[in-house]
Amino acid sequence: MQNIANSVQLKERNMARVLATIRTRGPISRISIAKELDLSPPTVSSVVDELLASQLVEEVGVGLSGGGRKPVLLALKPSSAYALGADLSDQSVKMAVVNLAGQVVESRERELRGEAWPELFQVLASFIEELGSKYKLVGMGVVAPGIISPDGMLHFASREGWRNLPLLEDCQAIFPGPVAVENNVRAMALGEYWFGVGQEAHNLVMVRIGGGIGSGIVFDGQIFRGDLGAAGEIGHVTVEPDGPPCQCGNRGCLEKVAALPALANKWGGGEEEFLAALEAGEARAEAVVREAGEVLGLALANLINLFSPRLIVLSSPKGLIVDKLLPVLRQVIDARAISWQRGRVTVVASAHREKSPVVGAATLILARLLSQPRSFLVEKDHFQEGIGR
Ligand SMILES: [Zn+2]
Repeated sequence: MQNIANSVQLKERNMARVLATIRTRGPISRISIAKELDLSPPTVSSVVDELLASQLVEEVGVGLSGGGRKPVLLALKPSSAYALGADLSDQSVKMAVVNLAGQVVESRERELRGEAWPELFQVLASFIEELGSKYKLVGMGVVAPGIISPDGMLHFASREGWRNLPLLEDCQAIFPGPVAVENNVRAMALGEYWFGVGQEAHNLVMVRIGGGIGSGIVFDGQIFRGDLGAAGEIGHVTVEPDGPPCQCGNRGCLEKVAALPALANKWGGGEEEFLAALEAGEARAEAVVREAGEVLGLALANLINLFSPRLIVLSSPKGLIVDKLLPVLRQVIDARAISWQRGRVTVVASAHREKSPVVGAATLILARLLSQPRSFLVEKDHFQEGIGR
């Protein structure tokens, strides 16, 4: 039995590695894959046959000959599988169809005007109905701000009234296939790791500056959640021991000093006006962002010393704040992180920008498919029978 289990694991692992090589290096020939992965050509051929049968990859022409027959080239087939990615935020409900290459092919959005929790799921269900009939869906990922425990409960979010809600259960009730839920910034970090700027970085931290400040940590290629699901709450590290009280129960938290509402408040106006001033290059607005960057930079330097990530990825609902923050953050990190780390951590803007939450949400499903293709394909068959495709 032990040997059978080992051989199944080995096949799964080989398929994931071959698929990853085709995805990141394709168009590529079977023989180049074998060389790259140090696998025998017959092993690669048999794995590729399975991948071709599943349609996750396709033959896309021939390459240059090394003397004999010209080799057939293989590439990922992005349209072979789609995942839905949904983003429940304070202001809106968004849903996107994301293909196997992490690209958004279609999306929907509804602004919120004080809708109650069950109404959000009516909106999601109507999106699923519109989009689900058009694409071969393999699952749905849903993200929300706040703390989501491993059992899929949303415990705590900035939006009023979002406390102890059965997020996973409510999503499963409206979607008949694999469903995953996650904190928005964590899923965004995973999205950058699989499809964005983080594809070379097994350890990365994503930081999002919006109504609050959140972070997502990808550790050894996996989302790091911590025991209770609250890892990465960088917005609630204390930066002013006697600062203003925060809804988390502490006071003087980073997000009370450096999130968008705090920036606008310090500047002396509303958030939209503040962003407009920043866009116009107003000196006072830029100074406010720079000051916030000094504090955020300290928090990031501490985080770098703890986790030693290769990459820090920044995102904000308005990319503008990120662009203004990047230079000052790089400076502070270089001055404050331990010297071994200096110059070795890259700080960049998100590749997915405003699409980052929906791409991250869909990645919760697509990453399962790409990292465990054999077992996922079995589940997917069940799912497709289930929805009658
Ligand atoms: Zn707090």
